[in-house]
Amino acid sequence: MLYHPDSFSSLRPLLASQNVTSIEVAGQLLQHIQTQKDLNAFVNVYDQEVIEHAAVVDQKIIEHKSGPLAGMVVGLKDMIAYKDHPLQAGSKILANYISPFDATVTERLLAADALIIGHQNCDEFGMGSSSENAYFGTVLNPLDKTRVAGGSSGGSAAAVKAKMCHVSIGTDTGGSVRQPAAFCGLVGLKPSYGRISRHGVVAYASSFDTPGILAHTVEDCASVLSAIAGPDAFDDTAAAQEVPRYTEALHHPGRYKVACLAGTLSNEGLQPEIKEHTLHGLELLKKEGHQVDNVHFALLKYALPTYYILVNAEASTNLARFDGIRYGYRSGHATTLEEVYTKTRTEGFAKEVKKRIMLGAFVLSASQCETHYIKALKVRNMIKKAMQEILSGYDFIILPTTTTTAFKVNSFASHPLSMYWSDLYTVLASVAGLPAISLPNGVDQKNLPIGIQIIGNYFEEAKLLTFASHFEAIVK
Ligand code: GLN
Repeated sequence: MLYHPDSFSSLRPLLASQNVTSIEVAGQLLQHIQTQKDLNAFVNVYDQEVIEHAAVVDQKIIEHKSGPLAGMVVGLKDMIAYKDHPLQAGSKILANYISPFDATVTERLLAADALIIGHQNCDEFGMGSSSENAYFGTVLNPLDKTRVAGGSSGGSAAAVKAKMCHVSIGTDTGGSVRQPAAFCGLVGLKPSYGRISRHGVVAYASSFDTPGILAHTVEDCASVLSAIAGPDAFDDTAAAQEVPRYTEALHHPGRYKVACLAGTLSNEGLQPEIKEHTLHGLELLKKEGHQVDNVHFALLKYALPTYYILVNAEASTNLARFDGIRYGYRSGHATTLEEVYTKTRTEGFAKEVKKRIMLGAFVLSASQCETHYIKALKVRNMIKKAMQEILSGYDFIILPTTTTTAFKVNSFASHPLSMYWSDLYTVLASVAGLPAISLPNGVDQKNLPIGIQIIGNYFEEAKLLTFASHFEAIVK
């Protein structure tokens, strides 16, 4: 028997009735990790430990004392702290670093009796859209190994798709959960900024960083979100709003008003099949009785520059702490204190990260701050307001998740800046801090998955998940 059905929710009753044990499930997923090492999805696998933990959870199931995620096997992006386990953020600069504490996300997963199977490969510090900027090497797409799995949570997406774990926890600063989900044919949820605590999550750009969930189904996302969302004394930006039971509302959709951002579909760089499938998805919604309107959004073209100015600025200050003194790697070639800093950082960070630190330092420098950083903050506010304006008249905004389906490995090697354009549609919700979900929406002619993105209003994840689950059903 195979213990990796298409969702954890379909496995749950088998675990509860003790027809299957968590040990058997975890054992089988570990085998999948072993046989698909070429995907490079994991940087560390906690094989012995996950089996030991599964035994404990199985006992709890027998005693009817288990938590809501009992037996769910979860992978963590290498950006999320797990006490006494390595944490490298896909970077050499954190070599040999062992986290002395759990991220709040990790703590809550464990409290719900989820089983943590390992840490997953990603772009260094979450900076990238292809998981090619990874110290541990490129992650391959399980659907076509000549292509990328997306990024920066590429290992997390590949692992779920290749059935190495049921669910992965990634981070989404500008699309890093939604884009790899789209590239691998999965559901990827980035909740509202502040819905999930960032405590113990390696910082890239703190006013954007959002832990997110990659799963096969909306229902699995909802179960996990219920367990990990909510206020946290360790993170002042974690919102105080109460956490509803997201799974309960899933099957009762209403009739909604949906805004389609017209400009996103007329973009020249958009792969025609993605446009077709997005339009088809909107047609299906109309047939279901929802109202779908084209809405003009004049600020679309400013979202990407605004995003890259602000995240680089924040990254340049966040990454200042990696100096060879406090964490991880220290250069062996330094003879003075200053050399410890400079050589450690020169040797410890790779090219993309250095580029962003330099760009970030530039836009924050005294002569540039007003024209770049401050201006970008103002534009961010305008984008937020304009999105809020749309969402005051509509329940959701729909647009594609990506401009293309999964591209070939090395596609952008000689022009790395053009990879930034692939984030065009995901950065919008990130700049505004709104919740957004990517859902599978058919395949292109090469059989590669296409993603569609639904953006909801602040802290309306319950409504967003309900609608997403409805869409998931009608697309099937
Ligand atoms: N690709 C985007 C970037 O490089 C998004 C990354 C992310 O969400 N972590 O910034």
